[in-house]
This record gives sequence, structure tokens and C-alpha cells, in this order.
Amino acid sequence: DGSNQHVFLYSNPRNISNELLANVANEKRVKGEDLEFFPLQMIESKLANKEEFVVAIVQITNVDIIESNCSLDEEYLIASQIRKRLLKILDADDLLIQYFLGTFLLTKTITRYNYQNAISSIEKVFEKPFEIRDKQFPIIVRIGVSSLSRRVRNSALLLRQTKMAIAALTHFGRNGTLSYDKEIDDYLLRYYSILESLPNAINQGEIEVFFQPIIEIATSKIVSCEALSRWNHPLLNEISPSEFIPIVEKNGHERALGVYVFQQAVAFLNELDSLQQGSISVSINTCPSELQDVNLIPHFVKTLTQYNIKHDRIIVELTERTLLTDVDVAKKVLGGLRKERIRVAIDDFGVGFSSLSYLHDLEIDLLKIDRSFIKDYPKEDDGVIIKAMVGMAREFKVPVLVEGVETEEQLEFIKSLGVQYYQGFYFSEALNQKDFIELFKKNS
Ligand code: C2E
Ligand code: CA
Ligand code: CA
Repeated sequence: DGSNQHVFLYSNPRNISNELLANVANEKRVKGEDLEFFPLQMIESKLANKEEFVVAIVQITNVDIIESNCSLDEEYLIASQIRKRLLKILDADDLLIQYFLGTFLLTKTITRYNYQNAISSIEKVFEKPFEIRDKQFPIIVRIGVSSLSRRVRNSALLLRQTKMAIAALTHFGRNGTLSYDKEIDDYLLRYYSILESLPNAINQGEIEVFFQPIIEIATSKIVSCEALSRWNHPLLNEISPSEFIPIVEKNGHERALGVYVFQQAVAFLNELDSLQQGSISVSINTCPSELQDVNLIPHFVKTLTQYNIKHDRIIVELTERTLLTDVDVAKKVLGGLRKERIRVAIDDFGVGFSSLSYLHDLEIDLLKIDRSFIKDYPKEDDGVIIKAMVGMAREFKVPVLVEGVETEEQLEFIKSLGVQYYQGFYFSEALNQKDFIELFKKNS
């Protein structure tokens, strides 16, 4: 547009001119290069001799909404408005590359100490909505930034870091701006290596199911146990479930893990039966999405039949989050479980939505009061919240378990409230099957 600024439209078959596309592709083919090198070379040439320099990737996060709400030429007009606004904040020497409609890469030479100004100027570009004819298009972006430093002086590294910053924003489902730092790198690397080893970890039994005893307060006997996964990773060592369960959930491995844990738990009950020391039940944790699976209950039933275990020895633990994600589905599953006489517990009670109405609506077999309410007893308060929750559970005639009991004082306190069950380090942490059996024999 008359200035000496250029926008490079990169890998965008819809918006790129045929001529440019053919030229670039030809040139690359002749040189035997991959198209990926295209922006790298351009960035490399820009950063030579620079002191201060940033690379930013701007990703429009609501691009699918815009695309589905626009004709192709409207899309084109939005893209060109975005480019115009971006070019305004760039100098002639800066670089702007567009990938598809929704992604822009830009480089900016900055003077010392005006890093923050450079970032704000990019953010400002997207503050006001874009206007095409009579339509307004608010645009929401993620901006990943990396900058030249004494250690980072090459384009490949800069680009990689910028991408990591974007990946981190995407990962946390956040919009806005993130500047790359080493912590992001460490976090994502660990995340990816956990994700990568998950499928095999489940298949090859790297994940072991431990059992934490659940005690009936009146008799001090083990009457149940909770199945808890333990992952001993060959390189990363022990990975706690609070770290890997969210990764399982986010990447579609809930079913595989759920099936595995259930099978292990039921087989364990079968093994305990053969000791003839009395019959206990087992509690199983579930992820919200497992409830969506129509095969969930049939699968439970099949496994229970296979190991000859009575259905009411299984307690399925659901969190408030699980129950309230999709109330209709939850009700259906609860109905299905009840029909099969499988029991249901509310896990982590009190920390979630704390909507009490469902206690009334849904028939719940056990309320598990979250550890956070007993954790600081007697220091923080005098247990008023637990007292209130236990009172309410009594109104609804739901038995109560307190999780995370660590001291005798805490146990005495909940006993005085009439709580029926507890689990916690005071009695025992989760044990592997062999250790559990030993403790179980002693306790009988
Ligand atoms: P959760 O269901 O609330 O399980 C209780 C957690 O509290 C367990 O942590 C247990 O080791 C810990 N705990 C028990 N007693 C005490 C105590 O006295 N003090 C303290 N500080 N902690 C205690 P864990 O095993 O690390 O599991 C964390 C969470 O990961 C579980 O919380 C559960 O939500 C999830 N999880 C674990 N295994 C599985 C699984 O196989 N499937 C699914 N879907 N989730 C699982
Ligand atoms: Ca649980
Ligand atoms: Ca819990």
C-alpha cells in the first residue's frame, strides 16, 4: 500500500495470491526446502545486529465463530483490516506474516526498556471490534511473546519460545498475553512427556491401584476401602494422581483408566474374599465424562459377574462437579446404578457448588466430607462447618464419612458428632494390595 511494509501471507491457500504462492512454492521446491523455513529465514534476517527485538504470535481464539458468521469476502475484509491495524504499529523494518485467517506472526524491533509498550500496542489493536459493512466483529486473541536476549539469539529458538507461550495459554484455556519464560518450558515438557507415556502406562500396568482403608468409627473395623491410582513412571518417578488425572481427563483416557481401575478393584475384592476374613466394599473414583458413556454400567455389571462380586459392594464416587456438569445425565446414571444396586457416594463434599438441593433430589448412599474441613482442626475453627454438614446429612438421612483424618483429636471430634466412617493417615494411607491384606488380617 505505497509504503515499504510487507505482509507475508503464509500457508494460506485461500487468501494468498496465486502468483505469490506459486513463486514461494517454486523457489522452495528448487532449493529443496520445507515451507516451515520460510518465516524462520525472514526472522533471522531481521534480527541480525539487533539489540532488542520481540517475536509475537497473535492467535484469534474466536476465529471459528467469525468464520461461521462470515462470507468468504467478509473474512477477507476482516483479515485485511487486522493487517492494516497491525502494520500501523509496526515499523518498515518489522515483519508481519499471516497464517490462515486466525494467526499472525510479527516481529518488532524495540528500543531499550519499551518492551511493555510494544506488547500493549499489539494488545490495543484488538481492543476495538472490527467492522464490516454493518456487522461488528469483536476479536479475542491470545498473544505469545518471546524476546531476544543475551542467550537467545536465533530465530528458531525465538519462534519455538513464542509457540510455547501460545501453547501454554491454549493449555490453560486463557486469552490475553503471555511472555515466554523457562517455567512454561518446564511445565509443558513435563506435561507432554506424561501425556505421551499415558497410554502405555495403563496398558502395561505401570499404574498400580492402591487401597486406602475406610473405618467404621463405632467398631474401629475396616469396612471398605478406596481405590487410588499410583503411577511409578520409569523416568519421572512417582507422578501423583492430582497431576496425572487432569491430564487423563483432558485427553480422553478416562475410559481406559476407569476400566482398568474397576477391574483391579473388583479382582481385589475377590482376592480378599478368599482370605475369609469378612467381606468389605470398595469405592471407585470417576471422571465426569465417564457418566456420558452408555457402556459404563453394563461394563461394571459384566466385571462384577466375572469375579462373582455382589453389586452393593461397589461404591461409585461422584463429585459435586460431576453431578452438576450435566444434571440430566447424572440423574440417569444414578438411576441406572440404583437399579443395579451399586451404591453412590458424593466425594469431596463441601468444596464444590455446595448446592444442597440435590441431596434431597438424588438418593445418595454416602457423603464424603472433604479433607479441607478437618485439616486444621482444632486450630482454625472449632469445627463448626463439619458440625453443620453432619447435622444436615442427618436431616437427609445420609451416612457421613470424613476424609483426611490425621490425628486422634480429629477422630474423637467427629466421633462426638456421630459421624459413621472415616479414612485418613491416622489409620492408614493408601496401601498396595499386599500391605493392605496384612493390615486387613490384623484388623479382623
Ligand atoms: P480423592 O478422591 O479425594 O482421594 C483422597 C486423596 O486424599 C488421596 O490422594 C489420598 O491419598 C489422600 N488422603 C487420604 N487420607 C489423607 C490424609 O489423612 N491426609 C492427606 N494429606 N491426604 C490424605 P491421591 O491418592 O493423591 O489422589 C488425589 C485425587 O486423584 C483423588 O482425590 C481423586 O480425585 C483422584 N484419583 C486418584 N486415583 C484415581 C483414579 O483411579 N481415578 C480417578 N478418576 N481419580 C483418581
Ligand atoms: Ca475419592
Ligand atoms: Ca475425596
